[in-house]
This record gives sequence, C-alpha cells and structure tokens, in this order.
Amino acid sequence: MFIEVENLVKKYGMSDVLRGLNFKVEKSDELAIVGSSGSGKSTLLYILGGLEKPDSGRVTIEGLEISKMSDVELSKFRNTQIGFVFQFHFLLPSMNCLENTLLPAKIGGFNRQEIEQRVRELAKVLQVEHCLKKFPFEISGGEQQRINIIRAISLNPSLLLCDEPTGNLDSRNTEIVMDLLRDVAARIKSTLIMVTHDEKISNSFSHKISIEDGQIIS
Ligand code: ADP
Ligand code: MG
Repeated sequence: MFIEVENLVKKYGMSDVLRGLNFKVEKSDELAIVGSSGSGKSTLLYILGGLEKPDSGRVTIEGLEISKMSDVELSKFRNTQIGFVFQFHFLLPSMNCLENTLLPAKIGGFNRQEIEQRVRELAKVLQVEHCLKKFPFEISGGEQQRINIIRAISLNPSLLLCDEPTGNLDSRNTEIVMDLLRDVAARIKSTLIMVTHDEKISNSFSHKISIEDGQIIS
C-alpha cells in the first residue's frame, strides 16, 4: 500500500471542506479525482502533498504518517518524493527556465550535472529544449506548463500530484501534456494523482473517485 487516507477531515472556519475521506492508492497506480468546483479537490491534494494539515484523520505515505513529520522532515520529503504540477504553481520570473527546473535539485543538494542531463533529456522529449535559456515571460503558456512539468519530475518523485494541469491549455496541448505526464509517471513508476474536470481524461484512468461536498460519492 502506497497511500492510505483515513477519516480525513478539514475545516476552514465554520465550513467543513473535507468530511471524512477514506481511500487507498497502490504504488505506481493512477487515480483521477473529479468533482464540481468547491467540492474540496484542491484541498485534498494540498493535504496529500503536506502543504496543508488536516483537522483530523491521517495520510500515510509508504508507511510514514505525514502529519507526524517535523517541518524539516516534511520539506525534505516534499522536495525529493513529491512532484507538484499545479495550474498556479508558477515558474520564478527572475530565473531562466533551466535554472527553474534545477531548483529542486539545488534545494535538495543533488549533483547538478546529473540532474541537468536528465532535465535536458526531458526537454527534448517535450520539445522545449529551445526554452531552457529563456526566461518564463519569453515563452508561451504551453511551453511554461511543460517546463513546470520538467521541474516537477526532475528528481523522479515517487508521487506526482497534478491539479487540473491542463486547465489553461488548448485541446491539442492538453492531450500532449496528459500523455506526457502519464508516460513519465509510468516510466519512473511514480504514483499519479490527478484532479481533472475533463471526463475523457478521468474515464481513461484506471482508478477514479468523485468528490461532492467533501465526501467521496463514488
Ligand atoms: P475545488 O478544488 O474542488 O474547487 P477547493 O478545495 O479549492 O475546491 O475548495 C473547497 C472549499 O474550501 C471551497 O468552498 C473554498 O472556498 C474553501 N477554501 C479553500 N481554501 C480555503 C482557504 N485557504 N481558506 C478558506 N476557505 C478555503
Ligand atoms: Mg481546485
């Protein structure tokens, strides 16, 4: 068992955002999360990634309960084990794209040459090699999204969390990015959890949960 979510509850002030979620995800599996706007999908993803703390219940990843980790342990865990592809997880404007993609490696103290080689290979696959020397504002939205993905997977995360990663892309680029994410996740045997409003995409996933009003309805 890779991820186990038990009785997860999250409130913001008076409102119950997550009302007792339970589910499991096996290692290397893929899970789509669907639900209407405001149903709690992003909140769930933030908690899974250790960016938010639940009010009660727990999340266990590879036998480690993430709410019991210290801040230092948690940030190391996040940096090395989890890749985030969020719609509003922007690239840093003051760095070129290569430096942006190498940021997790730098923070984690990894060998730069090794990771740079990997980043360059990924850039070739994603056809954004020409963007590496450029600054984020010099490339298109679709290219930024792909640079974002490279940064997220640069350290071979065991868990890839995606929040409507194709929300601002046209249908052709949506397909490219989706295929890429799944392909990469499969190649590095990463567990893929993706929030999406696209039914065609969610129906093609091997596992799917629907959330309404902070509860799993199917
Ligand atoms: P979804 O991603 O499914 O659209 P969210 O998880 O973003 O839903 O939000 C679920 C509910 O929690 C919404 O009603 C939203 O307004 C509320 N919410 C989300 N984040 C916060 C926050 N930081 N403070 C207060 N309320 C929040
Ligand atoms: Mg959301």
